[in-house]
Amino acid sequence: MKALRLALCMENVVKCECGASIDIAGAQPRKDGTKVWCRVCGTITVHHR
Ligand SMILES: [Zn+2]
Repeated sequence: MKALRLALCMENVVKCECGASIDIAGAQPRKDGTKVWCRVCGTITVHHR
């Protein structure tokens, strides 16, 4: 069950360097990377697909 959840999370969740998981399900995928703001530490993480 936990492994399945992790696999699903790969699609829409970015792991911040602080360890927080950021949901990007509603973010637009961009060629130069999706900028995701961490609400926990305030870091902008660029997610490349
Ligand atoms: Zn963070």
